[in-house]
Amino acid sequence: MVKAKIPSCGHCGKNAEIELEYTRQNLCSSCFSKVFEKRVRKANHKFQMFKRGDLVVVGVSGGKDSGALLYILSKMAGEIGFEVKPVLVDEGIHGYRNKALKEAEKLCEKRGLELEIFSYKKLFGKTMDEVMKARDEGKVKGKACSFCGVFRKKALNQAALELKATKVAIGHNADDVAQTFLMNLLRAEGERNERFRIVDKPKKGFVPRVRPLVFNTEKETALFCLTNDIPFHLGECPYSSEAFRAEVKGFLNETEEKYPGVKFNLLHSFLQNQEWLDEKTGKSGEEKEMRYCEECSSPSSGRKCKACELKEKLGS
Ligand code: SF4
Ligand code: ZN
Repeated sequence: MVKAKIPSCGHCGKNAEIELEYTRQNLCSSCFSKVFEKRVRKANHKFQMFKRGDLVVVGVSGGKDSGALLYILSKMAGEIGFEVKPVLVDEGIHGYRNKALKEAEKLCEKRGLELEIFSYKKLFGKTMDEVMKARDEGKVKGKACSFCGVFRKKALNQAALELKATKVAIGHNADDVAQTFLMNLLRAEGERNERFRIVDKPKKGFVPRVRPLVFNTEKETALFCLTNDIPFHLGECPYSSEAFRAEVKGFLNETEEKYPGVKFNLLHSFLQNQEWLDEKTGKSGEEKEMRYCEECSSPSSGRKCKACELKEKLGS
C-alpha cells in the first residue's frame, strides 16, 4: 500500500493542516495562527492604525470576522498600550442577531471584556424587522441592507462618541474589501472608492474606522476562529439574499475557483488606487467642504444625514 505523503509545515516542519490561500503555503495550525496574527500587525504598521493611549471600539457581531478581530486586538492592546471596548449593534433581526449575540457574549467573557450593546430600536425607534414590515407595507422603498448599512454606521459612530473612543475597528476581511471595491465600480459609484479607506480620513464628529483584517481572507478568518476556539455564530441574516453584495460575493468566489488569485489582484488594485489617491489628496487631511446634519450634527453630504432622513420616512 502506498501511503499518501502528508505535506509538512513550511515554517516548523511538523505535519501541515492548512494551505494558505494565494501563497499556497502549507502550515501547521500553530504556525498558521502566527501568520494570521502577523498580517494584522502588518496592517497596523502599514496603515498606522493604533497607538498607545487609544480607546478602540471593536464592532462585534457574534460572527467569525469580528470574533477573530476582538481576539487579536485584545492581545495587541497590552503590547501597544491601547484599550479595547467591544460593542455590538443589535439590529433587531429575530432568529439571527439574538443568537449571534450569545456567541459574542461568550467570547467577551472569555477575554474578560464587557460587551456594550446599542440597538436600532433605542437609537432609531425601529428594529430592522419593523423597518422591513414598513417596507413591505409600501411606507418606504429600498433593500434591507441599504437601510441597515446606514443605521449600523451611525450606531457604531454614536457608540464610539458616547464611549469617547479614538478608533472603531471593524472586521472587514480581504474578501469584504475586494467586494466593496468591485461593487462601487459596478454601480458606477467610483467616488465611493475615493472615500472608502482601510483607515478613514479624519472628519469632525466621526470616529475613524480601521480594518485590521484587510490582509486575511474570509476562509482564513474562519479557520483562525476554529483553530483558536473562538466562539462564533454561523447563521446568515434572513435579509442577506436581497443584497447586491451577495451577488458580487458569489461571482468573485466562482471566478476565484477558475482563476486563482483574482480576489487578491482586486485587493491589490484597491490598495494601489488608495495610494494614488493619498498622493493626490494628502494622507491625513480632513475632508474638505464637509457639511453637518441639521438634526443630529453628524457629518453629512446633504442637509440631513441619511440615518435622519430614513428615520423621518419611517416616522420614528
Ligand atoms: Fe443588515 Fe443586510 Fe447585514 Fe442583514 S445582511 S445584517 S440586513 S446589512
Ligand atoms: Zn442626522
